[in-house]
Amino acid sequence: MITAVDTLAAVHDGRCGYNFGAGPAMLPVSVVLELQQELPNYKGSGISILEMNHRSPGFQKIIDQAEQDLRELMLIPDEYAVLFLHGGATLQFAMAPLNLLGSRSSANYTNTGHWSARAMREAGRICSVHVAADAHASGYTDIPPEAQWHADKDAAYLHYTVNETIGGVEFHWQPEAKGMPLVADMTSMILSRPVDVTRHALIYAATQKNLGIAGITLVIVRRDILKDVPVSTPTMLDYREHIRAHSLFNTPPVFAWYVAAKMLTWIKAQGGVAALAECNQHKSAVLYKLLDESGLYSNNVKRSCRSWMNVPFNLIDHKLETVFLQAATAAGFEGLAGHRSVGGLRASLYNAMPEAGVYALADFMREFERAHA
Ligand code: PMP
Repeated sequence: MITAVDTLAAVHDGRCGYNFGAGPAMLPVSVVLELQQELPNYKGSGISILEMNHRSPGFQKIIDQAEQDLRELMLIPDEYAVLFLHGGATLQFAMAPLNLLGSRSSANYTNTGHWSARAMREAGRICSVHVAADAHASGYTDIPPEAQWHADKDAAYLHYTVNETIGGVEFHWQPEAKGMPLVADMTSMILSRPVDVTRHALIYAATQKNLGIAGITLVIVRRDILKDVPVSTPTMLDYREHIRAHSLFNTPPVFAWYVAAKMLTWIKAQGGVAALAECNQHKSAVLYKLLDESGLYSNNVKRSCRSWMNVPFNLIDHKLETVFLQAATAAGFEGLAGHRSVGGLRASLYNAMPEAGVYALADFMREFERAHA
């Protein structure tokens, strides 16, 4: 459960009530307060974490603990390397094909929305992209069942975007991939519910949603998949180099890594991923119920693939959306505007969003509906 201090502190310290932004996203208030407290003098070292050398014993302790916590939370076996890299998830759109193609010339992608399309576009600069499943025709409101997928058997891997942050479409199942190495973009759902790491060859996720702030990207890669990385691969784009250097090939984003470590500690204190999953499912169900019962709001994603993390919605009278946003901001609900590419509204309910925040938003939305019926 989200601790009482997270809700109470939000009320007391004059912050906005709740941040529903899609990323950078809400942090637990207890974590923000801890960062504030530790910032001038990290654990009596006499210096701030912002100034700390990334190869110092103090920092090494933070990153060792972060890796240990992540392995424990996600049950990551030893045959997988865990990396904390620069470049955002966007860089992984290129690093995945650069490292996994080997002697093959194509890769399979499932096209389920904006971020899959971005991953495909980037991979298309490096290899031939085979669209194994395409939700475009449904307006990205559905995920075709795997039985209908047509993967290229000679392709190097199969890529899927587990949660489409903009469209609000989420895989609530893991593809079989028929023995093909499975690659997952988990940016907007990492640690929000249990996943079977061992079904994947590569998992990547930027940290600015469920794991802290922007600056670090988490990569979990099965070591044996990296046998055929071309020697011409630039060092910073080669997973093997980062494995050799323990993610310290060059100066890392020290602060983002430290915040990710804090978030991992926080997730453990909440009872781990299974406890958060229960809470996340419940939070999203509260909003979907409201949307489905409403005559003012709508969400057209098929129920079986509705996201637990990002709930996009529209007002049936689109003109009212600006009024809604203004009223929501005034009431302390931040970040509810939809992505600039699609407009509308979106409530992001990452791990740090307490249930109380969702109940408060639901009350506000019902009240707004009554006033504008
Ligand atoms: N994939 C998904 C699913 C995302 O939501 C995002 C960012 N919103 C990205 C990739 C890109 O991440 P970054 O901005 O860290 O490159």
